[in-house]
Amino acid sequence: MLNGILITKDEAGYQARLQAIDDAVLQEGDVTVSIEWSTLNYKDGLAITGKAPVVRRFPLIPGIDFAGTVSESSNPAWKIGDKVILNGWGVGETHCGGLAEVARIKGEWLVPLPKQFSTRQAMAIGTAGYTAMLCVLALEKHGIKAGDGDILVTGANGGVGSVAIALLAKLGYRVVASTGRVAEAEHLKALGASEVIDRNELSAPGKPIGKERWAGVVDTVGSHTLANACATTRYRGAVAACGLAGGMDFPATVAPFILRGVTLYGIDSVMAPLSVRQEAWARLERDLDTAKLDAMTKEIGLGEVLEAAGQLMAGQIRGRVIVDVNR
Ligand code: NDP
Repeated sequence: MLNGILITKDEAGYQARLQAIDDAVLQEGDVTVSIEWSTLNYKDGLAITGKAPVVRRFPLIPGIDFAGTVSESSNPAWKIGDKVILNGWGVGETHCGGLAEVARIKGEWLVPLPKQFSTRQAMAIGTAGYTAMLCVLALEKHGIKAGDGDILVTGANGGVGSVAIALLAKLGYRVVASTGRVAEAEHLKALGASEVIDRNELSAPGKPIGKERWAGVVDTVGSHTLANACATTRYRGAVAACGLAGGMDFPATVAPFILRGVTLYGIDSVMAPLSVRQEAWARLERDLDTAKLDAMTKEIGLGEVLEAAGQLMAGQIRGRVIVDVNR
């Protein structure tokens, strides 16, 4: 038996509970990991509250990421005692995930814990922070340099947004943070934002094309916010779209793409190949200020996960939530 969160769906309805779980629930896998830390990402909030059909197998342990130590392995790439992290691959959706003491997974899904990070720090970064790095890499590879102009980060107080601000500021970019919580402006400035704007400026239906404002954009919100961000991106600028916190729709026109040569990059962390993950984690080691990471991280135990998931969905959590799965 192992302690963890279990999601069930039966005649009693959709339920997430903290309970002792029979380890027969764990699926096939060639590596077993003793989990030390997991986190709450937006997708975990959707899964635990049942707000969107993220979970596609029942019963299932949620948690799209974790960090811990290999306790059993028949995979030649991993041995007992190795420190590892996992992000995505359908874990926490179709395969039992990180919000429990133990996970059994495929060894090919794992990444070694970067030397600079503890398992706790790796999960303070988590899938949100690794995705923020993927967005920053997309803008960099597009050729956008510090000094080229403002970079807009939407959903600024969320996990992806907070890490993106810290990374971009460290790299010398001028960051404009868009948030529904302007009262948190000082916190966002401490992370590295030069300017904070109200998300209402971007969330209403807008014109197909507007005044050129952004050299680049990291968008976690989608919907009208993404459409307006594209419409106000400068000539040959780029937008990295990774989220849907404001909606899954994209009510835009082609005008920014065909008149301004704007590029829209889609960012997916879940199925990203190993080489992309390794690059992102190596860059996080180099470019993330761990003092800023600490300032945006809140720690909870497994017993607080259900309540925190509701708060995350209500937009009441700032930055990152890490979960100590052993308490
Ligand atoms: P969080 O819940 O931590 O942050 C989301 C933020 O979005 C909130 O803090 C809030 O920021 C803003 N927000 C919430 N609701 C709305 C709304 N209705 N309209 C506009 N803004 C809103 O989530 P994460 O940072 O973990 O994830 C952000 C998004 O990125 C999610 O949609 C998630 O699914 C996606 N994602 C995608 C990945 C990928 O692989 N493509 C990987 C990881 C995340 P504020 O209060 O500052 O306005």
